[in-house]
Amino acid sequence: MGRLAGQAVTVLGAGVAGLALARALALRGAEVTVLEQAEAIREVGAGLQVTPNGAVVLRALGLGEALEAATTRAQAVELRDGRDGSLVLRMDLARPKAAPGWHLTHRADLIDLLAEGARQAGVQIRLLQRIATVDLDGPHPRLRSTQGAEMEAEILLAADGLHSRLRAALAGERAAHFTGQAAWRAVIPCEPGAAPVAEVHMEAGRHLVSYPLRGGRMRNIVAVEERAQWVEEGWNLPDDPMALRLAFQGFGPRVQGWLDRVEQVWLWGLFRHPVAESWGRALPQGMVALLGDAAHPTLPFLAQGANMALEDAWVLAETLDRMGPGQAALAAYQAARAPRCARIVAAANANARAYHLSGLRRGIGHLALRTANRVAPGLALHRFNWVHGLDVTR
Ligand SMILES: Cc1cc2nc3c(=O)[nH]c(=O)nc-3n(C[C@H](O)[C@H](O)[C@H](O)COP(=O)(O)OP(=O)(O)OC[C@H]3O[C@@H](n4cnc5c(N)ncnc54)[C@H](O)[C@@H]3O)c2cc1C
Repeated sequence: MGRLAGQAVTVLGAGVAGLALARALALRGAEVTVLEQAEAIREVGAGLQVTPNGAVVLRALGLGEALEAATTRAQAVELRDGRDGSLVLRMDLARPKAAPGWHLTHRADLIDLLAEGARQAGVQIRLLQRIATVDLDGPHPRLRSTQGAEMEAEILLAADGLHSRLRAALAGERAAHFTGQAAWRAVIPCEPGAAPVAEVHMEAGRHLVSYPLRGGRMRNIVAVEERAQWVEEGWNLPDDPMALRLAFQGFGPRVQGWLDRVEQVWLWGLFRHPVAESWGRALPQGMVALLGDAAHPTLPFLAQGANMALEDAWVLAETLDRMGPGQAALAAYQAARAPRCARIVAAANANARAYHLSGLRRGIGHLALRTANRVAPGLALHRFNWVHGLDVTR
């Protein structure tokens, strides 16, 4: 039996990281309570790619069947020229050397299967618990809700996203900076018979990602444009579909056809937050740790935020169970995770630049990719094997 058996643990946040962690801890015998600010476990409508490195965690948590039922396996990722839709590079995910299990899913479906998995493992999820502050000055971590309720926890693991309260308690409030990019997201009815392929249409200063969801009934769209200014960080600013159509009017007919079907669209500004320096602290009678976006927010250009969150959840639960809560386990957890997450965040930043090339650099870049696609079709996928090929559950 591991060191977590019978141990009370409080998890803050019922997103991908918090729910996966809660199940991983409960399966190891911990008594887990999740505190979530929302009044219900529900997600905004948008797509999400669970790549092989995230899928292995879900399978190891016993959620493999639920994952297959709730998602579509992707056949390929394709980079296309935004202007005419012509193929620049195809990463065939069915190649024998490709890491298996690249899933296209709806965020709501992933959250549902994780919440169900947590509850089945005995996790208690307490809703309407918005935490205002975390106090680390006493022997235990103490939480205060926005309604003024005080709670004590022995082990507090915070998966409370971009504006993490624990992260603020560990390192102070840090301002995020605007990346100069704004993104629209929309879900539209999918054209019949669409192949499960994630397409990236690239143009100077903007790109658009799209893939079918829910067995091909819906299509997810994320469209990113460079901008000089933005005021507020957030996901849920409704916008006029016409603004999206105008911004992408130079794109080819395939993209225009999708955008013509957009009825509802949300716009948000993309901000960069630094990777946390300290991922936790041991207290005289307790400990705290960060995971997911709370520890390492990332831009969405490598589709890895939720996948890193799944990896963190597995590694944190496994490390605490093996070593017991405390400073040594925290150090081992951060050493295992921080360098990889920082490298992925940097690669996502670089992808943003590569997708938006203009002028001569765009011509040369696309030519190089088209040539690589012809002469060494497995190369691009192989380049990212360090991201998708890792199995943290081994
Ligand atoms: C458009 C877009 C597309 C993306 N696509 C992908 C993709 O394809 N693949 C991928 O891997 N990642 C993707 N990501 C990133 C991914 O969605 C996030 O990285 C991931 O959801 C982070 O999970 P999390 O659990 O750490 O945080 P969150 O999902 O933000 O969850 C945090 C939870 O904590 C709760 N909470 C926050 N503050 C408090 C508080 N004070 N008190 C109580 N509860 C609180 C929140 O309500 C929420 O439930 C995408 C992101 C965006 C924006």
